Amino acid sequence: MGPDETARILEQLRRFDRPGPRYTSYPTAVEFHEGVDAETYHRTLAAAAERKDAPLSLYAHLPFCEHRCLFCGCHVVITRHMHVAERYLEYVCREVEMLAARLPHRKDVVQMHWGGGTPTYFRPDQLEAFFNHVARHFRLVDGAEVAIEVDPRVTTRQHLETLAALGFNRLSLGVQDLDPRVQRAIDRNQTYEETERLIRTARELGFHEGINVDLIYGLPEQELDAFGESVDRVIELRPDRVALYSFAYVPWIKGHQKRMDPDTLPPPEIKLQLYLEGMRRFMDAGYEPIGMDHFALPEDELAVAARQGRLHRNFMGYSVMPAPDMVAVGVSGIGEVGHAFFQNEKKLSRYYEALDAGRMPVQRGYVLDADDRLRQRVIHDLMCNFRLDVRSVEAELDLPFREYFAPELAELEELVEAGFVVLGPHEIRVTETGRLFVRNVCMAFDRYLRRKRGERPVFSRTV
Ligand code: SF4
Repeated sequence: MGPDETARILEQLRRFDRPGPRYTSYPTAVEFHEGVDAETYHRTLAAAAERKDAPLSLYAHLPFCEHRCLFCGCHVVITRHMHVAERYLEYVCREVEMLAARLPHRKDVVQMHWGGGTPTYFRPDQLEAFFNHVARHFRLVDGAEVAIEVDPRVTTRQHLETLAALGFNRLSLGVQDLDPRVQRAIDRNQTYEETERLIRTARELGFHEGINVDLIYGLPEQELDAFGESVDRVIELRPDRVALYSFAYVPWIKGHQKRMDPDTLPPPEIKLQLYLEGMRRFMDAGYEPIGMDHFALPEDELAVAARQGRLHRNFMGYSVMPAPDMVAVGVSGIGEVGHAFFQNEKKLSRYYEALDAGRMPVQRGYVLDADDRLRQRVIHDLMCNFRLDVRSVEAELDLPFREYFAPELAELEELVEAGFVVLGPHEIRVTETGRLFVRNVCMAFDRYLRRKRGERPVFSRTV
């Protein structure tokens, strides 16, 4: 990308950088409400049980960390008391049992992901016991994606040996940035050697694909040259996939972010340049862009799926193996079953209380109506494959797409003029430059956002 192109993108950034969702779901979690409760979930699971033998995706949330990183946006429980975490494992096991009892013919799991928090906060024998418990109630099919988030600072060789032996075949590790100044500013100190050791050991133990590294741009104290060096050092490690996330600075939601000095955050123009710099280096090193903010080696299954336009995305990230229903266990976990989202209680005490009372521990959720489902499809296809086949949506409409979505298409005009979107007779296509602004493209189809215009922002900025 030459200096003229960069200048042009920066100019557009000034015009289009505004608060907007990342669309890990549509409608976004902001729309979830408590009218959707355990009873709704029980009924939905009863209906889902009838879809006999349809596979599942399963997410388990293991929220514990010993120490809080200041940038963190996850739902975590900070404690050094193992007995707190042990008690939690007992309850999650109970939730797995209760869930399995409600889905007697839905045992096959094609995708499992353990996230957190730091799942490897637990000892290897604890992880093994939890895995065996899940495996007694559900069946991981051959070739299933079995993924776990690992923190290089606490994950030992023994952890990796156990995970490999259990059948985990995808690892995701956070790096964020290797610059010690940035690490101090976000209160997360992690040496290059820790990261390198983890990846080398994982390769030795047979993790030959699906190693993912997370980096974040827009963190305090980040500078272009130093960030470029971090990217180069990550490239040397040759992870199969890289997520290059935009830092979501939302101190009004994540109070601990107030401990960061906002004056040290890079301004929006530098933030975008950080992304462009990272993108350039990954692409020069042979990585292909995947979806909104990921890169993968050309032979990686996500890269292959992206080239073939069959990439999917859910709360667990990009995937080639979606199941019709995704169930989640653990505090704050979000599942999607039968066209509805369900989020578990976020407080441990309430989570335990629900399970003690024999209820699935749902706190809130959202049931999608027909219009939501259409928009969900539109946004999903745009976010994953940067293209929407208009006819596939039209098949479910009584009206032509152009009539149904007339206000949305009118709103897209400014993005068409900016060169981000091409409206063809049968498709909506996001251009190469438009990929940086794909959230803005999706926002045009978000009916909830439309209603909220003018209210206080709840989302981070789009770039
Ligand atoms: S280790 Fe990960 S989950 Fe835990 S506080 Fe840090 S960023 Fe958040």
